[in-house]
Amino acid sequence: MSTTHPNPPATSASGPADGVETFESLDPATGDVVGVHPVAGPEDVALAVERAREAAVWWSALSFEERAEHLLTWRSVITRRIAQRAALSRSETGKPTADAQLEIALAIDHVAWAAKHAKKVLGPKRVSPGLVMANQAASVEYKPLGVVGVIGPWNYPVFTPMGSIAYALAAGNTVVFKPSEYTPGVGVWLADTLTEVVGGIPVLQTVTGLGPTGAALCTSGVDKLAFTGSTATGKKVMAACAERLTPVIIEAGGKDSLIVDEDADLAKAAEAALWGGMANAGQTCIGTERVYVHEKVFDAFVSEITEQARGLRAGGDDAAKIGPITMPSQVDVIRGHVQDAVDRGATAVVGGPDAVGERFVQPTILTHVPEDSTAITEETFGPTLAVNPVRDMDEAVRLTNAGKYGLAGAVFSRKRGMEVARQIRSGMTSINGVITFAGVPGLPFGGVGDSGFGRIHGPDGLKEFTYAKAITRQRFSPPLTLTSFARTAKDEKGLATIVTLLHGGKKTLRG
Ligand code: NAD
Repeated sequence: MSTTHPNPPATSASGPADGVETFESLDPATGDVVGVHPVAGPEDVALAVERAREAAVWWSALSFEERAEHLLTWRSVITRRIAQRAALSRSETGKPTADAQLEIALAIDHVAWAAKHAKKVLGPKRVSPGLVMANQAASVEYKPLGVVGVIGPWNYPVFTPMGSIAYALAAGNTVVFKPSEYTPGVGVWLADTLTEVVGGIPVLQTVTGLGPTGAALCTSGVDKLAFTGSTATGKKVMAACAERLTPVIIEAGGKDSLIVDEDADLAKAAEAALWGGMANAGQTCIGTERVYVHEKVFDAFVSEITEQARGLRAGGDDAAKIGPITMPSQVDVIRGHVQDAVDRGATAVVGGPDAVGERFVQPTILTHVPEDSTAITEETFGPTLAVNPVRDMDEAVRLTNAGKYGLAGAVFSRKRGMEVARQIRSGMTSINGVITFAGVPGLPFGGVGDSGFGRIHGPDGLKEFTYAKAITRQRFSPPLTLTSFARTAKDEKGLATIVTLLHGGKKTLRG
């Protein structure tokens, strides 16, 4: 049986066996079939998890250095084949080849960082035992959980899941990855290349399929599930995982704003807003969707961004800097948001409702968009920007924080960048740049509110795929016997004296 999928990918080398249920992936720019993949059912998923559990015995027993060795080799293989991978990504998502290459370059950096830092972050560390337990040597280390399930989206088919995959692997877990049904080819490619590097051992496997395959992974008994996708699906994933008390990381949607202060470099701010809003056809979780500009520079900013948008266009040809909308159903969402805003008084200074075609959406910039319209409150995921004036930075922060999402954002200001950034309720903010934090592997990545919880990347991202193991080792007999029925009144008095000495005074942190 074959399920025709409304859109994307490419096949694994061998292709599905006869009689296996499959789904097609289509090139979003042309509608051409670019791949056929098997639909993994609950049994297939269970089998993959079982294989991953066996592989975890070997992988988790390796030293940090040995695992790093394998991961760094994988990193080199991906790097050498970057053109091959970028072409695959272009055919599955429609994104320009240069954008596909940028995405993979960032992902490669994360593999290297996770491999090189896992030991330092997760390895055993001494902890001061304190005065009462002075006879103990105390330490903490971070152990792998076992098998991690990763469910990914299609918009950044390598960079996004790699934030979980590389960090989970570096921490000593094995991984079963369910890529988006729009980009299964990229997922298969990733697993194939790592399997090649580790001599065929399934430390990373890909199970392809639609939503139900992801749902099967949630209830398969994996030790943690890292989900990246929409908030609506994230809620379903969390509910399914609750059945087996499987912990989850939810990396969900966003509605990020870029704030422009009166003293900002307007040309740079406009350039960043344009790229942050339109790159990858606006299909970026941490993309710019709203822009709040100080009223004193609003008109100048709008002129600047309108000028810079001239000549920018979406198309399927190699010269077009913006590709198609990958998921056909999103076109209606984008059209709805633009139409709603215009119907309610917004001005289209670039594009507008007519810019929304069947597969391509031309750049659209709206100004004076009502704060309760969907173009402000919901994730649009298209090459559109809603640009509104604000009285001051307090209003910009208030409007930015008014939404249900809290993923990332940006501030352009010469003097007050840090001050404003700290007030934004989101996981990540870049000052005088856009999305720059995503390229710093040592920084955590994740959101608050409807954008989800948990962190990938950096030390937090490594720890996310482990459990903390605390160990105390007695070095010599305790001066006071406290944890025994042989405890005497003298021991109890001794404890009272020590505690009073330690905590009975009036000293505070300030002395
Ligand atoms: P989606 O929620 O439609 O799908 C994501 C994945 O979940 C796919 O692999 C899909 O097959 C799977 N899935 C669907 N139903 C499922 C179910 N019931 N149980 C388990 N898995 C299921 O999202 P999408 O359209 O692929 O991706 C776009 C969304 O992802 C946007 O909202 C975007 O903001 C978000 N995103 C977030 C981040 C982040 O880091 N926060 C990064 C990239 C994308």
